[in-house]
Amino acid sequence: MSKAHKSFEHEGDIDIAIIGAGIAGMYMLYRARELGLKAQVYEQGDEVGGTWYRNRYPGLRCDVESMDYSYSFSEELQQEWKWSERFSTQGEILRYLKYVAEKFDLRRDINFNTRIVSAHYNDENGLWRIKKENGETVTSLYYVMATGCLSVPKEPNINGIDDFKGNIYYTTDWPKEPVDFSGKRVAVIGNGSSGIQVIPILAEQAQHLMVFQRTPSFSLPAYNGPIDPDYAQVLKDNYTEHRRFAREDSIGGIPFVSYDKSAFDVSPAERWRVYNELYQRGAPFAFQSAFNDLLTSEDANHTAADFIADKIRRKVNDPDVAEMLIPHGQYVATRRLCMDTGYYETFNRDNVTLTSLKHTPIERIVPEGIQTLDQLHEFDCIVFATGYDAVTGALLRVDIRGKEGLSLAEKWEDGPRSNMGIMVADFPNMFTITGPGSPSVLSNMFVSIENHVDWIANCIKYLGEHGNTHIASSKEGEADWVAHANEVVSNTLFPKTNSWYMGANVPGKPRVFLAYIGGVNNYRKICDQVANSGYPGFVIH
Ligand code: NAP
Repeated sequence: MSKAHKSFEHEGDIDIAIIGAGIAGMYMLYRARELGLKAQVYEQGDEVGGTWYRNRYPGLRCDVESMDYSYSFSEELQQEWKWSERFSTQGEILRYLKYVAEKFDLRRDINFNTRIVSAHYNDENGLWRIKKENGETVTSLYYVMATGCLSVPKEPNINGIDDFKGNIYYTTDWPKEPVDFSGKRVAVIGNGSSGIQVIPILAEQAQHLMVFQRTPSFSLPAYNGPIDPDYAQVLKDNYTEHRRFAREDSIGGIPFVSYDKSAFDVSPAERWRVYNELYQRGAPFAFQSAFNDLLTSEDANHTAADFIADKIRRKVNDPDVAEMLIPHGQYVATRRLCMDTGYYETFNRDNVTLTSLKHTPIERIVPEGIQTLDQLHEFDCIVFATGYDAVTGALLRVDIRGKEGLSLAEKWEDGPRSNMGIMVADFPNMFTITGPGSPSVLSNMFVSIENHVDWIANCIKYLGEHGNTHIASSKEGEADWVAHANEVVSNTLFPKTNSWYMGANVPGKPRVFLAYIGGVNNYRKICDQVANSGYPGFVIH
């Protein structure tokens, strides 16, 4: 890409400040440099990788196939990197991100161990004043939050955690050194994607593992394994079209063609066959869009729930345990559809016990272990797999103030409002990569991140070419997007479910659907249309 035609004239220290050195921040830096911008990344950790750096519990893998869950911006990179497994481990993804940082010499503009505590827009000079935890400040024309959607841990909200005399671990912030659980009595609290991945590994090591389950999740087996080199080569030979399809034609940023039929357009036997085919492919994203009404029709969704329940019953030896593991009365995929390796089978082991918190809730953590309503369970270690303050958590952790000192936290008191999930009215020149109201967590994050970063880079280039320096969402543009995003989701089963997608896992968090359900393909068309028609819904000067 050619450089921005006109160098921006301003009195700031830098042109663009990027917060976070994960997948989004790294690519934003790459594109900013291409534009000739003076860019700096500020990263609170001591390494690149964001969530994939901090989040390193044993068993962690991505639920999108490695060859899709990777950058597409560099043909050389995607041809030379070799993924070893269908679904990569955290370790391999982190190695990849470190490799990208080296290959594109990104580290020299990344300030590690630098936590940003505030970012205030100055109405007088049109610059962002960004303050680091150590009190230093930097001023920048553009301010980009690349802080991730699942990066701020949610408090478990259980009394007495500090009283426990054994060891406590959080899947969201796992120790750098491997932890040995052999011979230990271990408790795991939490049964979302993280719990479901860590439980089978801990069960292999622990003397005894007790799983405390409040709400079960639906999970599909990964059928993970080494990548067949011939398959990888064919895909690499066709990467251009493969990536185009993911970006432009797919719903979730993963090349998969939905049947585009209602679950009731086919016979029960055919429906079962379709589910089974996708189940055996190890493809949760594909499974949830097997039929076009799975996420809109209760009856259609129940057919998928019945299918998975049947699989769980076949895997779990004890029928009572199987019934506890089946999410009765829940819709499939309105909470994250998980992907596992041997999760249900783990409950057939002699050293594993499942405890339902529905019947016997936790009263508090005590020095010896966990006191539930009916008894004390003693442990050496407790593992919390209790999740994140998703999507808005990282954005609101920084004291962000826009025009006339308006605070983002105040503006979003009743829930996030944003234009396309990328810009917020009254916060000029601030961009939120995969922000609330964009496909983000409902999609392959690499695809959504590249889309946003490209949009931001092209927008800044456009400003330069037109002799402008500033862009902000108009209030109307923001209102229109919020109305559109709400309308699309209102036709689905998502708002009927308590999930982190709805902010329901964090006490006091407003109930607002945090993503955009209209599909990566449609969303991208809208983004392109806005950019290609002079940014309607935005104000430029
Ligand atoms: P999560 O899906 O929010 O699950 C948290 C679990 O902890 C839930 O079962 C929740 O139960 C339970 N919990 C929370 N507070 C509790 C308490 N006080 N007492 C008892 N149980 C409590 O979090 P996560 O598993 O970390 O996953 C978050 C997201 O990260 C996923 O949905 C996914 O998008 C992403 N992720 C992806 C992968 C992957 O790619 N394979 C792996 C890990 C994470 P309730 O539901 O009853 O609140």
